[in-house]
Amino acid sequence: MTTSTRPWGQRTPADTKHDIELGDRFAPLLDGGLIPAIVTDRHTREILMFAWMNEEALERTLTSGYAHFWSRSRNKLWQKGEESGNRLAVRGIHTDCDQDVLEVEVEIEGDGVACHTGARSCFYREVEIDPTAPRPFALKRRNLAR
Ligand SMILES: [Zn+2]
Repeated sequence: MTTSTRPWGQRTPADTKHDIELGDRFAPLLDGGLIPAIVTDRHTREILMFAWMNEEALERTLTSGYAHFWSRSRNKLWQKGEESGNRLAVRGIHTDCDQDVLEVEVEIEGDGVACHTGARSCFYREVEIDPTAPRPFALKRRNLAR
């Protein structure tokens, strides 16, 4: 195995749970080459979107200051907002206890919306649970902060 030039630590079999959970080394687990990235609004803490990052997307996000992702459907790297102008300026990156999920804290540029539908957040609908309704799990639009 060659030494990685990536700007973060590679996981090795020698890493202990203690190292990963309590150490100061950023060693994210890219399971199958991908890590889930939850994008949140820096000011409201609202969840804006979810996407996957591969190693290159993570590296570009870390070095450019703008969120990049890996599209599984298009099989390509993309920068969020490269066409719409609604780029995501990274203000912080967090990882969870076992370092297999990222939270990317952003400020949205352009129109200030994160979703391609024009909604501020991709999570603009709620599954309404009503066992007595003809459709017990209907989708309802949520009121989100703007
Ligand atoms: Zn969306």
